[in-house]
Amino acid sequence: MVLILYNTLTRKKEPFKPIVKGNVGLYTCGPTVYHYAHIGNLRSFIFEDVLKRVLLLNKLKVKHVMNITDVGHLTSDSDEGEDKMLKGARREKKTVWEVAEFYTKAFQDDLKKLNIISPNKWAKATDHIKEQISMIQTLEKKGFTYASGGNVYFDTSKSKDYGKLTNLDFESKARVSKDKNKKNQHDFVLWFTKSKFDSQEMKWDSPFGKGYPGWHLECSAMASKYLGEQFDIHCGGMDLAPIHHTNEIAQSEGAFGKKWVNYWLHSEFLVLKKGEKMSKSSGDFLTLSVLGEKGFDPLVYRYFCLGTSYRNPLMYSEDALVSSGNALRKLYDKILEIKGTSGKVSKKHLKSFTDAVSDDLNTPKGLAVMWEVLGSNLKDADKYATLLEFDSVLGLGLKSLKKEKIPTEVVKLAKERLAARNSKEWAKSDKLREKIRGLGWDIGDTKDGYDLRKA
Ligand code: AMP
Ligand code: ZN
Repeated sequence: MVLILYNTLTRKKEPFKPIVKGNVGLYTCGPTVYHYAHIGNLRSFIFEDVLKRVLLLNKLKVKHVMNITDVGHLTSDSDEGEDKMLKGARREKKTVWEVAEFYTKAFQDDLKKLNIISPNKWAKATDHIKEQISMIQTLEKKGFTYASGGNVYFDTSKSKDYGKLTNLDFESKARVSKDKNKKNQHDFVLWFTKSKFDSQEMKWDSPFGKGYPGWHLECSAMASKYLGEQFDIHCGGMDLAPIHHTNEIAQSEGAFGKKWVNYWLHSEFLVLKKGEKMSKSSGDFLTLSVLGEKGFDPLVYRYFCLGTSYRNPLMYSEDALVSSGNALRKLYDKILEIKGTSGKVSKKHLKSFTDAVSDDLNTPKGLAVMWEVLGSNLKDADKYATLLEFDSVLGLGLKSLKKEKIPTEVVKLAKERLAARNSKEWAKSDKLREKIRGLGWDIGDTKDGYDLRKA
Protein backbone atom coordinates (compact mmCIF):
# COMPACT_ATOMS: atom_id res chain seq x y z
CA MET A 1 0.00 0.00 0.00
CA VAL A 2 1.26 3.45 -0.87
CA LEU A 3 0.40 6.27 1.48
CA ILE A 4 -0.40 9.42 -0.48
CA LEU A 5 -0.40 12.87 1.13
CA TYR A 6 -1.10 16.31 -0.29
CA ASN A 7 2.01 18.42 0.27
CA THR A 8 1.40 22.18 0.51
CA LEU A 9 5.05 22.74 -0.42
CA THR A 10 4.79 21.04 -3.83
CA ARG A 11 1.05 21.65 -4.24
CA LYS A 12 0.43 18.04 -5.18
CA LYS A 13 -0.39 14.63 -3.79
CA GLU A 14 2.79 12.63 -3.28
CA PRO A 15 3.71 9.13 -2.09
CA PHE A 16 4.98 9.42 1.45
CA LYS A 17 8.63 8.42 1.94
CA PRO A 18 10.10 8.85 5.41
CA ILE A 19 13.69 10.01 5.88
CA VAL A 20 14.46 6.97 8.04
CA LYS A 21 12.71 3.83 6.81
CA GLY A 22 9.80 2.83 9.01
CA ASN A 23 9.97 5.96 11.19
CA VAL A 24 8.22 9.31 11.02
CA GLY A 25 9.06 12.59 12.72
CA LEU A 26 5.84 14.60 13.06
CA TYR A 27 5.52 18.14 14.40
CA THR A 28 2.14 19.76 14.87
CA CYS A 29 1.70 23.40 15.92
CA GLY A 30 -0.21 23.45 19.18
CA PRO A 31 -2.55 26.03 20.67
CA THR A 32 -1.91 29.44 22.16
CA VAL A 33 -3.17 28.87 25.68
CA TYR A 34 -4.95 32.11 26.47
CA HIS A 35 -8.46 30.72 26.10
CA TYR A 36 -10.32 27.46 25.52
CA ALA A 37 -9.75 25.84 22.14
CA HIS A 38 -12.82 26.37 19.93
CA ILE A 39 -14.20 23.54 17.85
CA GLY A 40 -12.52 25.03 14.75
CA ASN A 41 -9.12 24.61 16.40
CA LEU A 42 -10.17 21.13 17.43
CA ARG A 43 -10.98 20.24 13.82
CA SER A 44 -7.29 20.79 13.03
CA PHE A 45 -6.21 18.59 15.94
CA ILE A 46 -8.63 15.83 14.86
CA PHE A 47 -7.13 15.97 11.35
CA GLU A 48 -3.63 15.62 12.79
CA ASP A 49 -4.76 12.71 14.95
CA VAL A 50 -6.20 10.94 11.91
CA LEU A 51 -2.93 11.54 10.06
CA LYS A 52 -0.97 9.99 12.92
CA ARG A 53 -3.33 7.01 13.15
CA VAL A 54 -3.09 6.45 9.37
CA LEU A 55 0.72 6.49 9.62
CA LEU A 56 0.45 3.87 12.39
CA LEU A 57 -1.99 1.80 10.28
CA ASN A 58 0.68 1.83 7.59
CA LYS A 59 3.06 0.23 10.11
CA LEU A 60 5.16 3.33 10.59
CA LYS A 61 6.58 4.31 13.96
CA VAL A 62 5.66 7.90 14.77
CA LYS A 63 7.47 10.36 16.98
CA HIS A 64 5.04 13.21 17.50
CA VAL A 65 5.90 16.56 19.06
CA MET A 66 3.36 19.29 19.80
CA ASN A 67 4.15 22.71 21.19
CA ILE A 68 2.20 24.78 23.65
CA THR A 69 2.49 28.49 22.90
CA ASP A 70 2.50 29.88 26.41
CA VAL A 71 4.58 32.96 25.81
CA GLY A 72 2.66 35.96 24.51
CA HIS A 73 2.13 36.14 20.84
CA LEU A 74 0.20 38.64 18.92
CA THR A 75 -3.44 38.69 17.94
CA SER A 76 -2.46 39.35 14.36
CA ASP A 77 -0.10 37.03 12.47
CA SER A 78 2.31 39.85 11.77
CA ASP A 79 4.21 41.53 14.59
CA GLU A 80 1.30 43.85 15.12
CA GLY A 81 -1.68 43.65 17.42
CA GLU A 82 -2.28 42.75 21.02
CA ASP A 83 -0.40 40.16 23.06
CA LYS A 84 -2.78 37.20 23.38
CA MET A 85 -1.54 35.94 26.75
CA LEU A 86 -1.77 39.43 28.28
CA LYS A 87 -5.27 39.76 26.91
CA GLY A 88 -6.26 36.49 28.64
CA ALA A 89 -4.61 37.55 31.91
CA ARG A 90 -6.38 40.91 31.92
CA ARG A 91 -9.73 39.31 31.15
CA GLU A 92 -9.39 36.84 34.02
CA LYS A 93 -7.43 38.95 36.48
CA LYS A 94 -4.76 36.26 36.71
CA THR A 95 -1.07 36.17 35.90
CA VAL A 96 -0.10 35.03 32.42
CA TRP A 97 1.48 31.93 34.01
CA GLU A 98 -1.80 30.98 35.68
CA VAL A 99 -3.71 31.53 32.46
CA ALA A 100 -1.25 29.34 30.53
CA GLU A 101 -1.44 26.53 33.07
CA PHE A 102 -5.23 26.55 33.22
CA TYR A 103 -5.80 26.51 29.45
CA THR A 104 -3.05 23.98 28.76
CA LYS A 105 -4.85 21.54 31.05
CA ALA A 106 -8.24 22.43 29.48
CA PHE A 107 -6.80 21.77 26.02
CA GLN A 108 -5.34 18.43 27.03
CA ASP A 109 -8.71 17.44 28.54
CA ASP A 110 -10.43 18.31 25.25
CA LEU A 111 -8.02 16.10 23.33
CA LYS A 112 -8.78 13.18 25.66
CA LYS A 113 -12.52 13.62 25.19
CA LEU A 114 -12.02 13.53 21.42
CA ASN A 115 -9.94 10.32 21.61
CA ILE A 116 -6.92 12.20 20.25
CA ILE A 117 -3.71 10.31 20.99
CA SER A 118 -1.33 12.43 23.06
CA PRO A 119 1.91 13.50 21.40
CA ASN A 120 5.07 11.71 22.50
CA LYS A 121 6.40 15.06 23.59
CA TRP A 122 4.60 18.18 24.75
CA ALA A 123 6.94 21.13 24.31
CA LYS A 124 6.20 24.41 26.07
CA ALA A 125 7.71 27.56 24.60
CA THR A 126 8.64 28.89 28.05
CA ASP A 127 10.63 25.72 28.82
CA HIS A 128 12.78 26.27 25.73
CA ILE A 129 14.01 29.86 25.97
CA LYS A 130 17.66 28.73 26.00
CA GLU A 131 17.20 26.83 22.72
CA GLN A 132 15.49 29.82 21.13
CA ILE A 133 18.28 32.18 22.17
CA SER A 134 20.86 29.79 20.79
CA MET A 135 19.01 29.64 17.46
CA ILE A 136 19.06 33.44 17.20
CA GLN A 137 22.81 33.37 17.87
CA THR A 138 23.30 30.87 15.03
CA LEU A 139 21.23 33.06 12.71
CA GLU A 140 23.19 36.10 13.86
CA LYS A 141 26.52 34.40 13.03
CA LYS A 142 25.22 33.50 9.59
CA GLY A 143 24.15 37.08 8.86
CA PHE A 144 20.37 36.60 8.88
CA THR A 145 19.56 39.10 11.63
CA TYR A 146 19.63 42.80 12.39
CA ALA A 147 18.76 44.88 15.44
CA SER A 148 16.28 47.69 15.13
CA GLY A 149 14.20 49.70 17.60
CA GLY A 150 15.51 47.48 20.44
CA ASN A 151 14.34 44.22 18.82
CA VAL A 152 16.16 41.55 16.80
CA TYR A 153 14.69 40.89 13.35
CA PHE A 154 15.05 38.15 10.76
CA ASP A 155 16.10 39.64 7.44
CA THR A 156 13.94 37.88 4.86
CA SER A 157 15.94 39.33 1.95
CA LYS A 158 18.79 36.99 3.01
CA SER A 159 16.64 33.86 2.47
CA LYS A 160 17.06 32.57 -1.03
CA ASP A 161 13.51 31.22 -1.41
CA TYR A 162 11.48 33.07 1.21
CA GLY A 163 7.75 32.38 0.83
CA LYS A 164 8.14 29.14 -1.15
CA LEU A 165 5.53 27.34 0.96
CA THR A 166 2.60 29.32 -0.37
CA ASN A 167 4.29 30.57 -3.50
CA LEU A 168 2.07 32.76 -5.68
CA ASP A 169 -0.60 33.03 -3.02
CA PHE A 170 1.93 34.61 -0.75
CA GLU A 171 1.59 38.23 -1.83
CA SER A 172 -2.16 38.22 -1.58
CA LYS A 173 -2.50 36.32 1.67
CA ALA A 174 0.38 37.62 3.71
CA ARG A 175 0.02 41.35 3.51
CA VAL A 176 1.56 42.96 6.54
CA SER A 177 1.28 46.53 7.68
CA LYS A 178 4.16 48.99 7.57
CA ASP A 179 6.60 48.89 10.47
CA LYS A 180 9.40 51.47 10.52
CA ASN A 181 11.76 49.13 12.39
CA LYS A 182 11.82 46.62 9.53
CA LYS A 183 14.08 46.70 6.49
CA ASN A 184 11.64 44.60 4.47
CA GLN A 185 7.99 44.39 5.33
CA HIS A 186 8.00 40.58 5.61
CA ASP A 187 10.84 40.61 8.16
CA PHE A 188 9.76 39.35 11.55
CA VAL A 189 10.85 39.59 15.16
CA LEU A 190 13.14 36.96 16.67
CA TRP A 191 13.55 38.69 20.02
CA PHE A 192 11.62 41.57 21.53
CA THR A 193 13.22 43.83 24.12
CA LYS A 194 11.20 46.92 23.41
CA SER A 195 7.68 46.64 22.32
CA LYS A 196 4.33 48.17 22.93
CA PHE A 197 3.74 45.70 25.78
CA ASP A 198 5.32 47.37 28.79
CA SER A 199 3.32 45.13 31.08
CA GLN A 200 4.69 41.93 29.56
CA GLU A 201 5.34 39.68 32.56
CA MET A 202 7.31 36.97 30.80
CA LYS A 203 10.85 38.26 30.26
CA TRP A 204 14.22 36.55 30.15
CA ASP A 205 17.83 37.73 30.11
CA SER A 206 19.54 37.24 26.78
CA PRO A 207 22.60 38.48 24.87
CA PHE A 208 20.19 40.82 23.03
CA GLY A 209 18.74 42.33 26.20
CA LYS A 210 15.98 41.35 28.61
CA GLY A 211 12.93 40.35 26.65
CA TYR A 212 11.07 37.49 25.04
CA PRO A 213 11.08 35.52 21.78
CA GLY A 214 9.00 36.12 18.67
CA TRP A 215 6.28 33.57 18.07
CA HIS A 216 7.67 31.69 15.06
CA LEU A 217 10.95 30.89 16.75
CA GLU A 218 9.65 28.37 19.30
CA CYS A 219 8.53 25.84 16.69
CA SER A 220 11.86 25.90 14.83
CA ALA A 221 13.87 25.57 18.05
CA MET A 222 11.74 22.82 19.64
CA ALA A 223 11.13 20.78 16.47
CA SER A 224 14.87 20.59 15.81
CA LYS A 225 15.63 19.72 19.43
CA TYR A 226 13.28 16.71 19.44
CA LEU A 227 13.10 15.67 15.77
CA GLY A 228 16.46 16.76 14.37
CA GLU A 229 17.46 19.36 11.80
CA GLN A 230 15.47 17.54 9.11
CA PHE A 231 12.24 15.69 9.65
CA ASP A 232 9.25 14.31 7.80
CA ILE A 233 5.93 16.05 8.43
CA HIS A 234 4.83 19.41 9.82
CA CYS A 235 1.15 20.35 10.13
CA GLY A 236 -1.32 22.97 11.20
CA GLY A 237 -4.42 24.80 10.09
CA MET A 238 -4.13 26.50 6.71
CA ASP A 239 -3.96 29.99 8.26
CA LEU A 240 -0.52 29.07 9.61
CA ALA A 241 1.03 28.50 6.18
CA PRO A 242 1.55 32.01 4.76
CA ILE A 243 3.28 33.59 7.76
CA HIS A 244 3.98 31.28 10.70
CA HIS A 245 5.16 28.26 8.72
CA THR A 246 6.81 30.42 6.08
CA ASN A 247 8.85 32.10 8.81
CA GLU A 248 9.61 28.80 10.55
CA ILE A 249 11.08 27.55 7.26
CA ALA A 250 13.12 30.73 6.73
CA GLN A 251 14.65 30.54 10.23
CA SER A 252 15.30 26.81 10.22
CA GLU A 253 16.73 26.56 6.73
CA GLY A 254 18.79 29.67 7.46
CA ALA A 255 20.18 28.19 10.67
CA PHE A 256 20.70 24.58 9.48
CA GLY A 257 21.62 25.33 5.87
CA LYS A 258 19.45 22.58 4.34
CA LYS A 259 15.89 21.63 3.54
CA TRP A 260 14.03 21.41 6.86
CA VAL A 261 10.74 19.49 6.42
CA ASN A 262 9.70 17.24 3.52
CA TYR A 263 5.90 17.26 3.83
CA TRP A 264 3.70 20.17 4.92
CA LEU A 265 0.03 19.37 5.57
CA HIS A 266 -2.64 21.97 6.27
CA SER A 267 -6.29 21.56 7.15
CA GLU A 268 -9.13 23.77 5.96
CA PHE A 269 -11.33 25.73 8.34
CA LEU A 270 -14.45 25.00 10.24
CA VAL A 271 -16.73 27.76 9.03
CA LEU A 272 -19.85 29.25 10.54
CA LYS A 273 -23.16 29.56 8.73
CA LYS A 274 -22.26 33.01 7.46
CA GLY A 275 -19.23 31.46 5.77
CA GLU A 276 -16.87 32.97 8.31
CA LYS A 277 -13.97 31.09 9.82
CA MET A 278 -14.54 30.33 13.49
CA SER A 279 -11.92 32.28 15.43
CA LYS A 280 -10.75 32.59 19.01
CA SER A 281 -10.00 36.29 18.86
CA SER A 282 -13.55 37.20 17.84
CA GLY A 283 -14.79 36.06 21.28
CA ASP A 284 -17.76 34.41 19.55
CA PHE A 285 -16.81 30.78 19.45
CA LEU A 286 -18.06 27.32 20.35
CA THR A 287 -16.13 25.08 22.68
CA LEU A 288 -16.50 21.36 23.32
CA SER A 289 -18.35 22.09 26.56
CA VAL A 290 -20.80 24.42 24.79
CA LEU A 291 -21.49 21.54 22.37
CA GLY A 292 -22.03 19.34 25.44
CA GLU A 293 -24.64 21.78 26.76
CA LYS A 294 -26.40 21.51 23.41
CA GLY A 295 -26.48 17.73 23.89
CA PHE A 296 -23.62 16.72 21.57
CA ASP A 297 -21.00 14.28 22.81
CA PRO A 298 -17.38 15.09 21.82
CA LEU A 299 -17.26 11.95 19.69
CA VAL A 300 -20.30 13.15 17.74
CA TYR A 301 -18.14 16.15 16.81
CA ARG A 302 -15.30 13.79 15.86
CA TYR A 303 -17.66 11.76 13.66
CA PHE A 304 -18.92 15.00 12.08
CA CYS A 305 -15.33 16.01 11.20
CA LEU A 306 -14.54 12.58 9.74
CA GLY A 307 -17.41 13.00 7.28
CA THR A 308 -15.54 15.71 5.30
CA SER A 309 -12.04 15.64 3.83
CA TYR A 310 -9.64 17.73 5.88
CA ARG A 311 -8.85 19.75 2.75
CA ASN A 312 -12.41 21.01 2.35
CA PRO A 313 -14.05 23.69 4.47
CA LEU A 314 -16.50 22.22 6.95
CA MET A 315 -19.72 24.11 7.57
CA TYR A 316 -20.91 24.05 11.17
CA SER A 317 -24.61 23.45 11.75
CA GLU A 318 -26.59 21.92 14.57
CA ASP A 319 -28.64 19.95 12.04
CA ALA A 320 -25.49 18.34 10.70
CA LEU A 321 -24.41 17.50 14.26
CA VAL A 322 -27.81 15.93 14.94
CA SER A 323 -27.34 13.73 11.82
CA SER A 324 -23.84 12.77 12.97
CA GLY A 325 -25.23 11.95 16.43
CA ASN A 326 -27.89 9.71 14.88
CA ALA A 327 -25.36 7.93 12.69
CA LEU A 328 -23.03 7.38 15.64
CA ARG A 329 -25.83 6.06 17.81
CA LYS A 330 -26.85 3.66 15.03
CA LEU A 331 -23.24 2.52 14.75
CA TYR A 332 -22.95 1.98 18.52
CA ASP A 333 -26.23 0.00 18.59
CA LYS A 334 -25.00 -2.25 15.79
CA ILE A 335 -21.65 -2.74 17.49
CA LEU A 336 -23.33 -3.76 20.74
CA GLU A 337 -25.45 -6.22 18.77
CA ILE A 338 -22.51 -7.90 17.02
CA LYS A 339 -19.91 -7.63 19.76
CA GLY A 340 -18.02 -10.93 20.07
CA THR A 341 -14.57 -12.18 20.85
CA SER A 342 -13.39 -14.72 18.31
CA GLY A 343 -13.89 -13.04 14.93
CA LYS A 344 -11.42 -12.77 12.07
CA VAL A 345 -10.54 -9.49 10.38
CA SER A 346 -11.80 -9.44 6.77
CA LYS A 347 -8.62 -8.84 4.75
CA LYS A 348 -10.60 -7.62 1.75
CA HIS A 349 -12.47 -4.97 3.72
CA LEU A 350 -9.40 -3.93 5.70
CA LYS A 351 -7.62 -3.35 2.38
CA SER A 352 -10.50 -1.20 1.06
CA PHE A 353 -10.46 0.82 4.26
CA THR A 354 -6.66 1.19 4.31
CA ASP A 355 -6.64 2.21 0.63
CA ALA A 356 -9.32 4.84 1.34
CA VAL A 357 -7.67 6.48 4.32
CA SER A 358 -4.19 6.20 2.79
CA ASP A 359 -5.38 8.30 -0.13
CA ASP A 360 -4.72 11.66 1.53
CA LEU A 361 -6.79 10.67 4.60
CA ASN A 362 -10.07 10.09 2.78
CA THR A 363 -12.14 9.56 5.94
CA PRO A 364 -15.55 10.03 4.23
CA LYS A 365 -14.68 7.01 2.08
CA GLY A 366 -13.36 5.18 5.17
CA LEU A 367 -16.73 5.72 6.90
CA ALA A 368 -18.51 4.43 3.79
CA VAL A 369 -16.44 1.22 3.92
CA MET A 370 -17.34 0.91 7.61
CA TRP A 371 -21.09 1.03 6.84
CA GLU A 372 -20.53 -1.39 3.95
CA VAL A 373 -19.03 -3.90 6.40
CA LEU A 374 -22.01 -3.52 8.73
CA GLY A 375 -24.40 -4.23 5.86
CA SER A 376 -22.31 -7.11 4.45
CA ASN A 377 -22.90 -10.81 4.90
CA LEU A 378 -19.79 -11.33 6.99
CA LYS A 379 -20.33 -13.22 10.27
CA ASP A 380 -21.10 -10.85 13.16
CA ALA A 381 -17.91 -11.72 15.02
CA ASP A 382 -15.86 -11.04 11.85
CA LYS A 383 -17.63 -7.73 11.28
CA TYR A 384 -16.80 -6.75 14.83
CA ALA A 385 -13.13 -7.72 14.53
CA THR A 386 -12.85 -5.82 11.23
CA LEU A 387 -14.49 -2.68 12.59
CA LEU A 388 -12.19 -2.60 15.58
CA GLU A 389 -9.28 -2.43 13.13
CA PHE A 390 -10.94 0.49 11.34
CA ASP A 391 -11.45 2.18 14.68
CA SER A 392 -7.70 2.34 15.18
CA VAL A 393 -7.97 5.21 12.67
CA LEU A 394 -11.52 6.50 13.24
CA GLY A 395 -11.06 6.70 17.02
CA LEU A 396 -14.77 6.41 17.83
CA GLY A 397 -14.23 4.30 20.95
CA LEU A 398 -15.88 1.12 19.61
CA LYS A 399 -13.84 -1.25 21.76
CA SER A 400 -14.90 0.27 25.05
CA LEU A 401 -18.64 0.34 24.26
CA LYS A 402 -20.72 -1.35 26.91
CA LYS A 403 -24.43 -2.02 27.13
CA GLU A 404 -25.78 0.53 29.61
CA LYS A 405 -27.34 -0.98 32.69
CA ILE A 406 -30.82 0.53 32.94
CA PRO A 407 -31.78 1.51 36.51
CA THR A 408 -34.87 -0.35 37.86
CA GLU A 409 -36.63 2.96 38.51
CA VAL A 410 -36.37 3.81 34.79
CA VAL A 411 -37.61 0.34 33.74
CA LYS A 412 -40.57 0.70 36.09
CA LEU A 413 -41.53 4.08 34.58
CA ALA A 414 -41.09 2.69 31.06
CA LYS A 415 -43.49 -0.16 31.83
CA GLU A 416 -46.05 2.25 33.30
CA ARG A 417 -45.72 4.37 30.16
CA LEU A 418 -46.24 1.36 27.92
CA ALA A 419 -49.42 0.49 29.86
CA ALA A 420 -50.61 4.12 29.52
CA ARG A 421 -50.01 4.02 25.76
CA ASN A 422 -51.79 0.71 25.43
CA SER A 423 -54.84 2.27 27.08
CA LYS A 424 -54.42 5.44 24.93
CA GLU A 425 -53.73 7.73 27.94
CA TRP A 426 -51.49 10.03 25.89
CA ALA A 427 -51.09 12.85 28.44
CA LYS A 428 -49.99 10.37 31.11
CA SER A 429 -47.62 8.74 28.64
CA ASP A 430 -46.04 12.13 27.82
CA LYS A 431 -45.64 12.95 31.52
CA LEU A 432 -43.88 9.63 32.09
CA ARG A 433 -41.57 10.29 29.13
CA GLU A 434 -40.59 13.59 30.78
CA LYS A 435 -39.93 11.83 34.09
CA ILE A 436 -37.74 9.26 32.35
CA ARG A 437 -35.88 12.07 30.57
CA GLY A 438 -35.35 13.73 33.96
CA LEU A 439 -33.52 10.57 35.06
CA GLY A 440 -31.20 10.87 32.05
CA TRP A 441 -32.86 8.41 29.64
CA ASP A 442 -34.68 8.74 26.32
CA ILE A 443 -37.54 6.41 25.56
CA GLY A 444 -38.68 5.49 22.05
CA ASP A 445 -41.51 3.26 20.84
CA THR A 446 -40.84 0.02 19.01
CA LYS A 447 -43.03 -2.67 17.46
CA ASP A 448 -42.83 -4.78 20.59
CA GLY A 449 -42.71 -2.14 23.30
CA TYR A 450 -40.07 0.46 23.98
CA ASP A 451 -36.43 1.25 23.57
CA LEU A 452 -34.41 3.02 26.27
CA ARG A 453 -31.18 4.91 25.64
CA LYS A 454 -28.98 7.13 27.74
CA ALA A 455 -29.90 10.76 26.90
P1 AMP B 1 -4.19 28.81 17.73
O1 AMP B 1 -4.51 28.34 19.11
O2 AMP B 1 -4.90 30.06 17.35
O3 AMP B 1 -2.71 28.90 17.48
O4 AMP B 1 -4.77 27.69 16.71
C1 AMP B 1 -4.59 26.31 16.87
C2 AMP B 1 -4.85 25.59 15.55
O5 AMP B 1 -6.21 25.76 15.11
C3 AMP B 1 -4.00 26.09 14.38
O6 AMP B 1 -3.51 24.97 13.66
C4 AMP B 1 -4.96 26.90 13.53
O7 AMP B 1 -4.57 26.92 12.19
C5 AMP B 1 -6.23 26.11 13.73
N1 AMP B 1 -7.49 26.86 13.46
C6 AMP B 1 -7.81 28.11 13.87
N2 AMP B 1 -9.08 28.44 13.48
C7 AMP B 1 -9.59 27.36 12.82
C8 AMP B 1 -10.85 27.05 12.20
N3 AMP B 1 -11.87 27.90 12.19
N4 AMP B 1 -11.00 25.83 11.63
C9 AMP B 1 -9.99 24.92 11.65
N5 AMP B 1 -8.78 25.14 12.24
C10 AMP B 1 -8.57 26.34 12.81
ZN1 ZN C 1 4.30 26.47 14.90
